[in-house]
Amino acid sequence: MEIKFDLTDKINKDYIIELINKNDVFYLAHISYKIKKEFANSFHTCSISNSKSGVCDQNCSYCAQSSFHKTDIKTYNLLPKEEIYKEAEKAYLNDVRHFGIVTSGYGYPKPNKEFEKILETIRYIKERLNDLEVCCSLGVLSEETASMLVETGIVEYNHNLQVNPPKYKELIATTHSVEERINTIKILRKYPIRICSGAIIGLGETMEDRINLAFLLKDLNVDIVPINVLIPIKGTRLENQKPITAVDVIKTFCAYRIILKDKVIKFAAGRETIMKDFQGLILACAANGMLTGGYLTTRGRSVEEDKELIEQIFKF
Ligand code: SF4
Repeated sequence: MEIKFDLTDKINKDYIIELINKNDVFYLAHISYKIKKEFANSFHTCSISNSKSGVCDQNCSYCAQSSFHKTDIKTYNLLPKEEIYKEAEKAYLNDVRHFGIVTSGYGYPKPNKEFEKILETIRYIKERLNDLEVCCSLGVLSEETASMLVETGIVEYNHNLQVNPPKYKELIATTHSVEERINTIKILRKYPIRICSGAIIGLGETMEDRINLAFLLKDLNVDIVPINVLIPIKGTRLENQKPITAVDVIKTFCAYRIILKDKVIKFAAGRETIMKDFQGLILACAANGMLTGGYLTTRGRSVEEDKELIEQIFKF
């Protein structure tokens, strides 16, 4: 079943399921690698600032910042712009050119004081580091707040759908709907910015769920697809969730590469903790991006170690 590159746009769900069911992970990795080499032979790194942490009134199952969970994370209100700038500068000096401001909470359906402060922070960073691309992940937006963010100069917005939409209520949250999140993506898609939207895997979803989400992300024409592997955090609803296997993660990344062809597929949380020695395999054959310098509430490897790894990968 050799793939023809000019047919990659016609790949359908049956083809992917058939490939996965062959249970030959290296054959899948081989096809994924060929597509990656041909269509996605670049590498995207970004760092994030956890600019407002915890005390969230939403009940996302995996999240240490939900007030429905009892975790020992540090909680704080929106950081002052000078502090967020310092984090941006640190990332910049480490050669990272994409920097994301992330806040806990449902989102900003209306502009409020806090939202105005975020806009001010974006301007503050852009005035000082004008070739740093500033991104945001602030939750649900409306037409009004989306246009204000775009006017302020963000180049990218992150808004993960996390799971196959029909499973959202069961696996993610009941305090908001997946439709609201899809609507935010549709609003933002009208603007010439990059949309970053992906998945969290290992929550108890099936491979078919993951594949359905990949096809939806393709239809929504998102540019960047981060994949997080669940790190069960003590005190959250999923603290006892059985970790998925390395093989399952590799299969998922390869399937996403084959479906999403030239999109940036970014390996986010779980890269070091869950995949350990196998993270290099995924970066070599499927993913072409990573979140570096730590995650929202868990630590990662150093940026220096990641830089060395990326250099090695390009020697493949
Ligand atoms: S993922 Fe975001 S919205 Fe959900 S609980 Fe965590 S901080 Fe709140």
